[in-house]
Amino acid sequence: MAITCPRCGRQYDATLFQFGQQVVCECGITVDLSQGHLLMTPSDIEGVLIDIAGVLHVGEASVPGAAAALTRLSAADVPVRFLTNTTRATRQQLLTKLQRLGFEINGESIFSAPIAARKYLEQHDLRPYLLIHPALQEEFENLATDQPNAVVVGDAADVFTYRTLNAAFRILMNGGALISMGSNRYFRDQDGLSLDMGPFVEALRYAAQTEPVVLGKPSPAFFQEALNDMGVPATRAIMIGDDLENDVGGAQALTIRGILVRTGKYRPEDENDAAIKPDSIVDDVTQAVDEILAAVAKT
Ligand SMILES: [Mg+2]
Repeated sequence: MAITCPRCGRQYDATLFQFGQQVVCECGITVDLSQGHLLMTPSDIEGVLIDIAGVLHVGEASVPGAAAALTRLSAADVPVRFLTNTTRATRQQLLTKLQRLGFEINGESIFSAPIAARKYLEQHDLRPYLLIHPALQEEFENLATDQPNAVVVGDAADVFTYRTLNAAFRILMNGGALISMGSNRYFRDQDGLSLDMGPFVEALRYAAQTEPVVLGKPSPAFFQEALNDMGVPATRAIMIGDDLENDVGGAQALTIRGILVRTGKYRPEDENDAAIKPDSIVDDVTQAVDEILAAVAKT
């Protein structure tokens, strides 16, 4: 099995190293061999990306210790941006909820898929038919929606009906653009795993034979926007998420390291996925922050 340096891409034979051994890559960085991967020492971490749902809170309950973990990150002057595909709330509603749950977060640090979608619509002069949750309507206020030439899909919950999906289908058959605020299959709600927007986008894609433009994670452009905002290159950033595919896989595709937390939608099978290997797997965001700060402290 080969292990790849997260910065320069050099490959090493994993059998030459022992678990936990520190090695110096030819590009000069010191790396720890952890979980069969090269994990850069914390000194290389200059910015942290954090998913919200499933990492900071599950439904209406905050993850124990999460607020304190964020406070410790900000006390250590490590820049943080939040990346969320949540499409059941506007950025302002998200912020209000997080503050109510005890998180000290600046609204500007939240990058949400709906905001990315609105920007895309404006840039491309599109008039959307909105298949979105009623709580999200406000984020799309004052956009022309007459004679729609695009369909925007979020986690619309009960708004997904035969009537609304068929209306969307007809717009697509007339050449409309299909825009999805993520491709998440499911999420963990308070009462259990629940269908996300992905399966509905897939139905529309299949019927209308048109490929969706996916905004939000795992879109590289979405990750890049948050990196640019921090002024941190991908190789110096780390993502903490509960979604193996969209958070960890999406980040790694851009050479951002990915930590998987065992909260939210995490399932034990995620640890043995054939395609996506997290750089680290930890119990929760507290442990993830501990790992990051321990590394920062060594410098
Ligand atoms: Mg999540």
